[in-house]
Order: sequence, then structure tokens, then C-alpha cells
Amino acid sequence: MGSSTPHHRNNQNKTKLIVIMGATGTGKSRLSIDLSTHFPHSQIINSDKMQLYNGLDITTNKIPLPERKGVQHYLLGEFDSIDADVEPSQFRSAAGSTIADIASRGNLPLLVGGSNTFIHALLVETFDPQVDVFAESSSVSRALRYDCCFLWVDVAWSVLSEYLCIRVDEMLDSGMLEELAQFYDPTKAGVMVGLRKAIGVPEFDAYFRKYQPWESPENGVVPNKDRDQSRREAYEEALREIKDNTCRLAKRQIGKILRLREGGWDFTRFDATVTFQALMKKKQSSAVAAPELEWREIWEREVVEPSVKIVKRFLEE
Ligand code: ATP
Repeated sequence: MGSSTPHHRNNQNKTKLIVIMGATGTGKSRLSIDLSTHFPHSQIINSDKMQLYNGLDITTNKIPLPERKGVQHYLLGEFDSIDADVEPSQFRSAAGSTIADIASRGNLPLLVGGSNTFIHALLVETFDPQVDVFAESSSVSRALRYDCCFLWVDVAWSVLSEYLCIRVDEMLDSGMLEELAQFYDPTKAGVMVGLRKAIGVPEFDAYFRKYQPWESPENGVVPNKDRDQSRREAYEEALREIKDNTCRLAKRQIGKILRLREGGWDFTRFDATVTFQALMKKKQSSAVAAPELEWREIWEREVVEPSVKIVKRFLEE
């Protein structure tokens, strides 16, 4: 393939980058795959700080392999869940060289994930690790080292918060508790670094301390499933905390996106509220028929089609 195709650089010779932002649960990963089908040279770089680590795929909501539809993903589970944090400057350098590699092969880089401090660290022309740009007294620089097309997927708070709680229940149904039981290490309880910060780990550590996971000959380490009253209560307590902390995370993420926008980052906002209302209607109804189609159609119409238009225009500029 050789050198980059002209439409992947702007007239100041900056690399063009699509950035998909939004709070947790708003459909960023889905949009990235939907865009990839319209822009076949797309490759995705993850910017969710917990999904950088290898492990806890259900707990951290990594997009499952079949849903990636063959689109190449970078920085997704590439860091060992060592007992240390990946720092913003490390992310800046790893994601920076990944973007350069993708563009040098003539492909289109798509940055997708909810960690706004990492996105900021990566994109600004000059990054100072000592400054917290999201603190009250700071200001955000609008000088960026890439030519960015920012797509922000937003969902009205009343709908998103309800959806996030349903999603936690679904994650537990898909094996989150079993995954966390295998990850549990009594010697590390209370250690809050790296992947151990993922929502679900500290909340269920308290539960596992009381109700130790046990070694099953067939299934490895499994959670204690005794159904007594106090176990049930401890489980419900952990579940409540996970839901609260997920909603708090989403609120903080939205706050940071608004700060970046006030700082002059030029976002196009897509409102996926109606999609999520239709999706929840589908989940709550026992009818198997049409609604599945309905939410997908709304998503396509309200989010995918307009973002495809914007990206097309951006690439032609
Ligand atoms: P902060 O400065 O608050 O860490 P940030 O923008 O750098 O913010 P976020 O992506 O908002 O990073 O993550 C903040 C915290 O939210 C993480 O430390 C973790 O506890 C939790 N978190 C974020 N993403 C996930 C995830 N995919 N799964 C589980 N927990 C997550």
C-alpha cells in the first residue's frame, strides 16, 4: 500500500482521525463497527482505560470478537493487568504510534472509548502530565495534533441511567460474577490499581471476602452460590453499588465531554435517546416480533446515517 492516501491528511499535513466519544453504555463500540462498514479501511483504537488491560472482558464490556466483524482493533486488552496504572502519557505514546502506523498504511484511524483524560492526553498538541485540565481552575487547549472529527453519542439522562442498570443485570447474566470470582485474589483486596479499579472488582471483593469462591473440579474457581438470606443481601448490596458507580461514571464522563466542548473542541452530538427507549421497550416486552428491528432502524436513521454523512464530508475536506 505504501504511503498514506491524500484524504487521510488535511492541508496542514495533519493525520485525519475520527473520534467517537460518549458516556459508558451509549453505543460507541456499535457505532464504530457501523462506521467501519461504510469506510472499509477503518481500524479502531480503544480509548477506554479499563479495556486496555487483558482480562475481565465481560466486566469491562469489551466488544466481543464476533461483533468486531473482522475490523482490526488496537490497544484492546493489550496491556497485562499488572499491579500498576497505565498512565495518560503512556497511552499518548502507545496510541500515537498506533495512529501513525494505521495512517501510514493508508487506513483510517477511529478512536473509540470513554476515557476522556486519555483522549485529551493523546490529542493535545502539547501534553503536560502535571496538569489536570478537568480541574476547576484549568483550561482545555484547542490546539490538537490531529485533524479530528468528533462524534458524540448522547442519551437523555433519565433513559441512560435506567438502561445502565439493565445492562449491569445483563452482564451478570452473561457471567460477570463467575469472571470476577476467577479474578478474585484475597491477598490483593483493597489494592486499587490497574484493572482492579474496574467497576465490579472492588464491589464484589467485599462479597467474596465473606463468601469465598471455591474450586470446582469441572469449572475452576466459581462463586459461592449458597442461597441463604445474608448471602443474598450481600449480593444485592454489591449489585446496588455497581449500578450507582456506573451511573456516577457516566455522569463524570458527560461532565468531561462538556468541559472539552467548552474548551473549543468541536463535537457533533447525536441523540440516541429514542433508540434506547425502543431498545428498552424490546427488552421489557415478551413479544418476539418487530421491536428488535425498530430500535435498529431508529439507530441507523438517527445516529449511523448522519455520522456517515459527517465523516464523508470530513474526509473530502
Ligand atoms: P478518571 O480521571 O476519573 O480516571 P478518566 O477519563 O481517565 O477519568 P474513565 O474512563 O472515566 O477515565 O474511568 C474512570 C473510572 O471508571 C476507572 O478508573 C474505573 O474505575 C471506571 N471505569 C471506566 N471504564 C470502565 C470499564 N470499561 N469497566 C469498568 N470500570 C470502568
